[in-house]
Amino acid sequence: MRDCFEVRDTDAGGRIGELTVPRADATVETPALLPVINPNLDTLSPRRLATEFGAEILITNSYIIHGDDDLRERALEEGLHELLDFPGAIMTDSGSFQLSEYGEIDVTTEEILAFQREIGSDIATPVDIPTPPDVSRERAESDLETTQERLEIADAADTGEMLVSAPVQGSTYPELRERAGRHADGTGLDVFPVGAVVPLMNDYRYDDMIDVVAAAKRGLGADAPVHLFGAGHPMMFALAVAMGCDLFDSAAYALYARDDRYLTVRGTRALEDLDYLPCSCAVCTDHSPAELRGLPDRERESELAAHNLHVTFAEIRRIKQAIRAGNLLELVEQRARAHPTMLDGYRTLLDHAAQLERSDPVSKGSFFYTSHESARRPEVVRHHDRLTRLSVPDSLLLTEGDSPRGDEFDDAWRVEPPFGPFPRALSKSYPLTAEVPARTDRAALEAAADGVARLVETNPETAVTLAHRGWPAGVRDRLPDGVALVDLTADDRDRSR
Ligand SMILES: [Zn+2]
Repeated sequence: MRDCFEVRDTDAGGRIGELTVPRADATVETPALLPVINPNLDTLSPRRLATEFGAEILITNSYIIHGDDDLRERALEEGLHELLDFPGAIMTDSGSFQLSEYGEIDVTTEEILAFQREIGSDIATPVDIPTPPDVSRERAESDLETTQERLEIADAADTGEMLVSAPVQGSTYPELRERAGRHADGTGLDVFPVGAVVPLMNDYRYDDMIDVVAAAKRGLGADAPVHLFGAGHPMMFALAVAMGCDLFDSAAYALYARDDRYLTVRGTRALEDLDYLPCSCAVCTDHSPAELRGLPDRERESELAAHNLHVTFAEIRRIKQAIRAGNLLELVEQRARAHPTMLDGYRTLLDHAAQLERSDPVSKGSFFYTSHESARRPEVVRHHDRLTRLSVPDSLLLTEGDSPRGDEFDDAWRVEPPFGPFPRALSKSYPLTAEVPARTDRAALEAAADGVARLVETNPETAVTLAHRGWPAGVRDRLPDGVALVDLTADDRDRSR
């Protein structure tokens, strides 16, 4: 177990954890949001972030401080916490972003790490190479080599109690991201940002973002705290947490406010388009949209930034509660409905259901089937795996009917979409207590048929009869040959004559 991070609770790939930050003498509960503070701009003061918003940790850029004579002197003299006037933990970035934007920077990893330590940073960052999406494999690989050399320099440096992050790069090549994750995990470094995903999010490529994170997670150990670097829109937090991200940083709250943009968990709205404010934070209950529009520029920006940050922190709390309650994926399903590209992100998440299944609790409150994507949740994957381990008699009836039919079978099991078959003794255990809509959809029937197929294929000696409620031909086609079929709805029709 990594000393600085402890997982307390899990749901799908999401977790509530505790990040111990020794230098700040603080423990940060994750998922956590790190508001980004530009040391030159004070949209909302760090002190206010702590007292009014409950921020336990923030992130600022040591490269900007290093490059500004006045800030550098003050940071070295007073220390970073005093300079920013923030009582919690402070993470610092290194200039990697500037490197990716402008092509070069004038510090080395050794220098900037030593500087971060001198000014009192609690979590430092080496100068990694943020490789953008879609570059050639050669470039992604050679950039990654450089990043890995920098991580090794950071690992060998004397950083005292300060935690040090180990960014995971590799562009849009899952295999490289996985390799990068494995390498980073093998260092003695502490926090693992998945880097260079901002261009993916700017282009609404949530599907690619999920593939990148899933790959990095396969390389990193389950005890590694993962930071989705540059991700600050609350709309995608639930999705990213479900894939296993623990830390987010938001510059969005301030940047969007500057452009009169209003964040919601369903996307961004232009202040000028709003007739109503769909939020109950102090800003939105004290003002109408017209009043906000009428404020002087600085004041409007600050009020919008405050709203944006309230929404962002509220979503983090909602996600934590969902993890506790075991319904994180139901929250993800709701968020996925806000934008088609978010739905792509959720569908991609479910491509990794077997990976999520490893951390998903065996038992939770209740499985709610709320969209046809629910048929691909990790609980369904796990049930199908379990079917291969159950012992079955020589002849078995699988039925969607209420009571076992006839005595000609050794046993009768229930069939419930989307799970498929199970012995009646399991019907009171999770997830088979699921709440499913009475109007079953095709995806649930197909998943149930796949469950039957798994059972039959594992037990070729057993004579299996399936009594189903009018499964269409395309669904029945998923069943192996040799399964005897009885259509219960045909019986119902006979009876009603
Ligand atoms: Zn608000």
